[in-house]
Amino acid sequence: SAWITEFVTSVEGGRTAVRANGKYAERFAGQLVLVTGAGSGIGRATAFAFAEAGARVVAVDRDAEAAARTAELSRLVGAPETWAETVDVSDEQAMEKLADKVAAEYGVVDVLVNNAGIGLGGSFLDTTTEDWKKVLDVNLWGVIHGCRLFGKQMVERGQGGHIVNTASAAAYQPSKALSAYGTSKAAVLMLSESLRAELAGRGIGVSAICPGFVNTNITSTARFAGVDADEEKRRQKRTARLYGLRNYPPEKVADAILRAVVRNQAVVPVTPEARAARAMARWAPKA
Ligand code: NAD
Repeated sequence: SAWITEFVTSVEGGRTAVRANGKYAERFAGQLVLVTGAGSGIGRATAFAFAEAGARVVAVDRDAEAAARTAELSRLVGAPETWAETVDVSDEQAMEKLADKVAAEYGVVDVLVNNAGIGLGGSFLDTTTEDWKKVLDVNLWGVIHGCRLFGKQMVERGQGGHIVNTASAAAYQPSKALSAYGTSKAAVLMLSESLRAELAGRGIGVSAICPGFVNTNITSTARFAGVDADEEKRRQKRTARLYGLRNYPPEKVADAILRAVVRNQAVVPVTPEARAARAMARWAPKA
């Protein structure tokens, strides 16, 4: 809603940081929501949207300062309670510690958003083993740890819950520049659909969110596209002109995440090109 945009804009010194979604006001009142990668982009916007909807928010990021900032701002936009936790989601022991601490001090998580992720660009033949491990560690193992640790707590409590995993349109849209990233996201998509089937009988929903190109830090770093910074700027301009992709805001992805929880949606392509690619992937005749 408008006042939040204005408010956070002024707090952030002129940068629009949030345009949360008034539609779900109070819908998540009393619920505990944990968002990973909450220090920036889609994760931060998601924390704000849940905060506006009355949730208690745990903002998790490996960047301590960014997580703290998200928690602070989430409180200001309406969350009755917020906490910041500094964790690398790919570190299993750290995630175990987090899960224990959250359960003991804040309660069982009602909505878990496994959103932390890193980008990696470049051709398959040029991608080193080290880079493959890095991207799979964060994008896939981070989601596995989150689903297993917090999913167990939800099952044990027996009062349902919801898990949202941020996949990507790259999960089903092949690209010569994103083989490692796309592979990590395809795995997240299948993990989400499998876990959804497994937990359906227990009142726990699982959703995979698949955005296309969204305007965040991940897409503005040259490393993601595997090209130098100038080339990346030109590429983004070209892409924007061609597809009108520029400025697809993370707040709209946050909207889609809240809607996916409310409607218990399975796979949610978000941007127009992500929707088109999903339709193509499902309907294209098999060779
Ligand atoms: P972003 O870089 O703005 O935010 C990612 C956040 O995750 C950062 O705050 C970062 O510190 C944190 N993070 C990274 N690795 C972490 C780790 N190991 N442990 C804890 N925190 C970690 O990027 P974003 O675009 O908001 O990305 C969020 C998610 O959305 C990612 O999973 C990304 O792959 C996915 N996604 C993004 C786009 C896009 O175009 N921006 C498209 C599809 C999917």
